[in-house]
Amino acid sequence: MFTSSHSYYQAVASAQAQADANNANAKAAENQAQVEVLRQDVDRLLMICEALWGFLKEKHGYTDAQLAEAVTAIDLRDGRLDGHTTPAAATPCPQCGKTNSARRPRCIYCGSPLPVNLFTS
Ligand SMILES: [Zn+2]
Repeated sequence: MFTSSHSYYQAVASAQAQADANNANAKAAENQAQVEVLRQDVDRLLMICEALWGFLKEKHGYTDAQLAEAVTAIDLRDGRLDGHTTPAAATPCPQCGKTNSARRPRCIYCGSPLPVNLFTS
């Protein structure tokens, strides 16, 4: 079948390269599917935000300029106007004052409930 060990190793390397390529293609397809799911989630969230903003404008009289100003203020929390939010800072416990991750619902030191931050990622 193989004329020399060199040919054999070339065949093994070629088969491994093909397997690697197949794995990479499968991973790329999986990632593309995940991106599509996220894109659909973002689209749905944008529609919900737009609907809620419409209610606030109609029912409470807020303006687009006020919204833009508030968004800019959030963007500038880290000192940079770059279209990105800054991860929530560590949270001091209202009971014992020790610092906890902003993601924790309860203080790891005393167990007290921590203030809820709905926008912690
Ligand atoms: Zn505490």
